[in-house]
Amino acid sequence: MTQRQLLPCGRPAPEVDKAKSNKKDARELLQKITENLDQFVAQKNLNRSEVRNKILETIVYEARHFRAPDLLEHLHRRYPDVGKATLYRNLPVLVESGVLQEGPTDSDGQVYYELTEDEHHDHIVCMDCHKIFEYQDDLIEKRQEELAAGMNFHLKNHRHVIYATCQYKNKN
Ligand SMILES: [Zn+2]
Ligand SMILES: [Zn+2]
Repeated sequence: MTQRQLLPCGRPAPEVDKAKSNKKDARELLQKITENLDQFVAQKNLNRSEVRNKILETIVYEARHFRAPDLLEHLHRRYPDVGKATLYRNLPVLVESGVLQEGPTDSDGQVYYELTEDEHHDHIVCMDCHKIFEYQDDLIEKRQEELAAGMNFHLKNHRHVIYATCQYKNKN
């Protein structure tokens, strides 16, 4: 068994990055989202761009949740030629195409992005190492529906974000 990587706060890195741990899944995911993006680009009459493919590849292999500067770091390691301005210009295109979605913000207000997925989940943001973790809790989901219904609303969508400090910090 390989040793689990530790985050800066001392917490073992979560095993959420399924694509990264399985090369075949990663390739399939990359192929699927590249097709989705190509469709969008064709519809909008945008130019196809090699850079966007490099960005998608980096996201699939390196970064499940990321802020723009986090992605830039990963991107530079793979493709030193892609500049910051290019990345920042292309992020909104990826969001508009539906390939990426904007998630919660960190405690400084910077947006985290992630690939758009079918399965609903919510997030815990670690205020110590600025990583983002996923959770899914049926009771919380149900209570939110009940609460909205109790106020005569039909719940359509929600984002539930927990900001927390890490219990691993200073223990190692
Ligand atoms: Zn939820
Ligand atoms: Zn997520």
